[in-house]
Amino acid sequence: MSEATGSGAPGITAASAFAGMRRVSPVVFKAGCPDCRGRFELAAGALRLAIGATSRTTFYSFTCPGCGCTVRKPAGDRIVELLTDGGVRTLRLHSAG
Ligand SMILES: [Zn+2]
Repeated sequence: MSEATGSGAPGITAASAFAGMRRVSPVVFKAGCPDCRGRFELAAGALRLAIGATSRTTFYSFTCPGCGCTVRKPAGDRIVELLTDGGVRTLRLHSAG
């Protein structure tokens, strides 16, 4: 599509303006279930991220598509960044006494 013969045109269209705003491909996360030992590709909407006061209380959870159980796994800084960047719902846990 780059065979345009026009020269001097800025070439800024609505499509190109929006191109860099969001990712085109859907974000998929790979997660394993310790219960049925299945590995699944989950969309961002299937995952939930809970951020606690410390890294110990920060985890992500999802409902296993294989056995239906709720899986919870600790989430480190990289995972938190990855999930939040991918559009996963984030729940902040405040345990203010
Ligand atoms: Zn499972």
